[in-house]
Amino acid sequence: MFKLSCLALLLQAYFMATASPEFSYFSNGADWNTAFPDCGGSSQSPINITRANVQAAATGSRPFSMILNSNTTTITYTVGHNVNTAGTFSYVNTLDSNGVPSLFIDTGFHVHAPGEHQIDGVLGDAEIHFVHQINGTSTSTYQYVVVGLIFKKSAGVSDPLIAGWNVNTAAGATNQFNMNSVALSNILASQNFFTYTGSFTAPPCTQSVRFFLIDKLFDISAAQLTTFQNLFANNNAFAGGKGNNRLTQALNGRIVNSITVPAANITSAIIPQATTASVFILRGILAFFGAFLFFK
Ligand SMILES: [Zn+2]
Repeated sequence: MFKLSCLALLLQAYFMATASPEFSYFSNGADWNTAFPDCGGSSQSPINITRANVQAAATGSRPFSMILNSNTTTITYTVGHNVNTAGTFSYVNTLDSNGVPSLFIDTGFHVHAPGEHQIDGVLGDAEIHFVHQINGTSTSTYQYVVVGLIFKKSAGVSDPLIAGWNVNTAAGATNQFNMNSVALSNILASQNFFTYTGSFTAPPCTQSVRFFLIDKLFDISAAQLTTFQNLFANNNAFAGGKGNNRLTQALNGRIVNSITVPAANITSAIIPQATTASVFILRGILAFFGAFLFFK
């Protein structure tokens, strides 16, 4: 009995020491750096992008290609600090911080409402982040590429991607996500991006993210937006209705580049889902496909 109690105490101490502290959006992130030191770093996200200060990337210095999933995919949800989905919805090919062409594989996407990045001081009503993790090992200072879509409420115009998503926010829900041709064309038509190096916009705020934000305000209907606002910004039980967006962070000398991606570099294909059993085969195929995309 004594031994068991000691073990229980040791385990408790271990978990108290290693478990991540909780965080909230009551101050929209202004209080996070106490428990999460990286949140006080000098390369944090989101930021306000001032168009007048954006610099066009030198030709060839920032190659980018993206493949979007055209297949119907079953997705699972977690609704917590955001609506988070797990799945492989896209691949990105771009350079790592060492200049090495690298493949980044989507691990899922999530939603912030209101949005997080500002363009010339204007905040979107919502923002979707597609999170891609680098394939294999790399000493790159960024291990993730996040592709961001900013939404602005419009009179009656719904977003086809969100319509195809058919979001289900019930606990433990799964549903079918259909990134159909209409939804895809919406993104495929977007060829101007802002890009800069930053961080995760929620604790632990790790500074290992290269952001690619589509330079476009996507339309979202009031009904679509309400689905997300009811979870966050209009929900008093969620941080007093403060929303799940972090305040913008200082640039601290970082340069925001603009890139124009050739239309042929944003494509769609049936993307197999990276289950544990298939992931090694899948990644082998992707490495080949990724190299092809870079050099075509
Ligand atoms: Zn995010």
